[in-house]
Amino acid sequence: MKFWPATKLFSFFSNDLAIDLGTANTVIYVKNQGIILDQPSVVAVKYSTNEVLAAGNKAKKMLGKTPESIVACRPMRDGVIANFELTESMLRYFISEVHNNRKTLVRPRMIIGVPSGITQVEKRAVEDSAKQAGAREIYTIMEPMAAAIGSGLPVEEPTGNMIVDIGGGTTEVAIISLKDVVYCKSVRIGGDEMDRAIVQYVKRKYNLLIGEKTAEDIKIKIGTAMLTEEAAKEEVKGRDLITGVPKTITLSDAEVFESLTEPISIIVDAIHSALENAPPELSSDLVDRGIMMAGGGALLKNLDDLVSKETGLPVTVADDPLLCVVHGAGKVLDELDFFKDALLR
Ligand code: ADP
Ligand code: MG
Repeated sequence: MKFWPATKLFSFFSNDLAIDLGTANTVIYVKNQGIILDQPSVVAVKYSTNEVLAAGNKAKKMLGKTPESIVACRPMRDGVIANFELTESMLRYFISEVHNNRKTLVRPRMIIGVPSGITQVEKRAVEDSAKQAGAREIYTIMEPMAAAIGSGLPVEEPTGNMIVDIGGGTTEVAIISLKDVVYCKSVRIGGDEMDRAIVQYVKRKYNLLIGEKTAEDIKIKIGTAMLTEEAAKEEVKGRDLITGVPKTITLSDAEVFESLTEPISIIVDAIHSALENAPPELSSDLVDRGIMMAGGGALLKNLDDLVSKETGLPVTVADDPLLCVVHGAGKVLDELDFFKDALLR
């Protein structure tokens, strides 16, 4: 009869967690099981008692529709933890949801991807909530670092690796070498700002009020960072600001393109400024290796081509851009010794 070494048995029963605490979506990966939670980073609490009523999909449905006694919000909306009590509540809700769904023999280790602009106080608050939710050991990692690892960049090598993670609330541009961040720039512009730009455009041009969710749908369907031969159109419903009644218009991809120029140019500027600030030896690596793009915003049509045209560098969109951070964090947890320098201290 063959016995398993204790450490191997331990790892078999463990359900260590990797968490991507994103401004738009929270994703949780459980070792040996895969991704078991992927929900919007939204929480709904009772105003008077701060009791959490719902988080994730359920809370998102309440956004903008709550009575005064309930607050539903995105606590990480702008990339930094704007409301960290609510962030904590949301995190605790998600972890306990994952935790209660399975029988555990050992308390899990957790690794959490956090925005690069996080303060020590906020980082500690995140760690405390994970501890309260039952973590045995907690590690944190900067989201761009996790995204780089998750997208398969060789971060351990002494070469320049550039990752551009375009999330809901922020875009983080980082240059990584030898498992450490050499340069990082974070701007508070991401997919949300693109949605808001579409809302504004439609309002100005057509006197039509549309919601941010509608704008996001348009962006995903016909949004583009560069115009190409194929034209696309989409019907959009909203409320006429003059008559007050519901109205439908047809938007073209050229109009959506026009509305997105400003947020996109801010993202491109952030990439330029990272390139300008890279140490010369690493810059020359980037010429060969190019830029890796991750995060949901990387899926905007033709954004990779635009960035490539503007920088003259090759650009790759990661295979699963929305899951890079959680995959990278999971990999770090699996090979903690190897990646310990990549962790936040
Ligand atoms: P975060 O890490 O901040 O939670 P995500 O990486 O989950 O953000 O990305 C969410 C953003 O990606 C949203 O703004 C969403 O609208 C955008 N997004 C998702 N899919 C697409 C797509 N196909 N085209 C353009 N934007 C997209
Ligand atoms: Mg993210």
